[in-house]
Amino acid sequence: MAGSTIKADIVSRRLRLGTDKSEKLMRQAQQVIPGGVNSPVRAFKAVGGVPRFVERAEGANLYDVDGNCYVDFCMSWGALIFGHADTAIGDVIKKQVDRGVTYGACTEQEYELASFISKHCPYIEKIRFVSSGTEATMSAIRLARAYTNRNLIVKFDGCYHGHGDSLLVKAGSGLATFGKPSSAGVTVNTASETVVLPLNNAEALNELFSYRGEEIAAVIIEGVPANCGLLIQPPEFMKSIRALTQSAGALMILDEVITGFRLGLNGAAGYYGISPDLVTYGKIIGGGLPVGAFGGRSDVMNLLSPDGPVYQAGTLSGNPLAMVAGLTVLQKLADGTVYATLNYNTSKFVTSLRKRLQPLSFRVLSIGSIFWIVCQNETPHAPAEIKAEAVERFNRRHYDLLQNGYYFPPSAYEVCFISTAHTTEVLSEAADKIAEVFTSETNEEMK
Ligand code: PLP
Repeated sequence: MAGSTIKADIVSRRLRLGTDKSEKLMRQAQQVIPGGVNSPVRAFKAVGGVPRFVERAEGANLYDVDGNCYVDFCMSWGALIFGHADTAIGDVIKKQVDRGVTYGACTEQEYELASFISKHCPYIEKIRFVSSGTEATMSAIRLARAYTNRNLIVKFDGCYHGHGDSLLVKAGSGLATFGKPSSAGVTVNTASETVVLPLNNAEALNELFSYRGEEIAAVIIEGVPANCGLLIQPPEFMKSIRALTQSAGALMILDEVITGFRLGLNGAAGYYGISPDLVTYGKIIGGGLPVGAFGGRSDVMNLLSPDGPVYQAGTLSGNPLAMVAGLTVLQKLADGTVYATLNYNTSKFVTSLRKRLQPLSFRVLSIGSIFWIVCQNETPHAPAEIKAEAVERFNRRHYDLLQNGYYFPPSAYEVCFISTAHTTEVLSEAADKIAEVFTSETNEEMK
């Protein structure tokens, strides 16, 4: 981006043009869309205030319909690793639009994207594309049940895997008891086939496997749990899941919807040095277009229809727009240099933010180009370790972050993402301003 454009953006970020248009649009949207939104968190219920209606975005910046400019740390929930409106990705999408947007038939690009992923992630012997992360996890679970001829799924408290019924389940009353529906509309019967265990607790996992190991079809876990804050797990815990599933004849499903091609070319699996049986993807592999995928061992994947008995399908699965966008993204990432710069910039930004937030003892956690500010002085590794005051403190600051031109995900439990479009200049200014917001709010609290 040209220097003059950056300056203009910084100036416009200081201007606060109000939120009248967003407010009006929200009132109108609520008449025809439940809650005015197509995904609940966008309604700003946790943080309060006016959900911003976005008009356009470029690089690291979001522009709302009232003309305000924000540095975006949400980046479409991690889908954009090269920032908004990247030219190379945009160009291939435009070219594909001219050739037709969907055929409902096979394309060479599906094969190319599948081969690329398989080449860089050796445990992905076969892969199938779908249209969302939810579809990917839902299909992986069906496949695991069919392969093992068992019903029980194990997930972890604090991990989110989309909104498939089997995974909208919360922990029952004791360790390793039947799960309970975490959404109305999920049946008790469905929830009873999912066990929810605490994260970072190898003992609970061992205990469950010791008495129900033969019923377990799969254990599913996020590559790095990043949907209830950033709950980085010790590598030994991830390795214990791998070892236990292997010895019990159950499958390990690593949900890399966030971490896939974010933490590196072979995601969290590479980070931990494990080979899962099945992996689910979404977000980055579609370059910002609707996508998901699940893949892994060919003896498992071969059970899918039309070769095998497990039915799974999709009108827009592997659609050419998402395939060309995803392939362009992954090709741009292929030599690994992008990760080196991105991770270095993130770590510099996080270090600077930590230094500035030191007097408040707030934690800034990060891995790769993901970061999370938790307004308490202990590092949580499980949801129960995130204090209610920490959540309230963040939620109160969200408005001030927006007022200062920083778009954070509208919930204390959501992590932030850095893209290659977040220049060192943008990040350096952001560290100062964000720290100011948190510090001034704390001064207010002490008055
Ligand atoms: N798995 C993980 C780890 C996710 O973070 C998400 C969404 O954020 C999903 C699955 C569901 O993906 P989607 O929203 O594309 O359905």
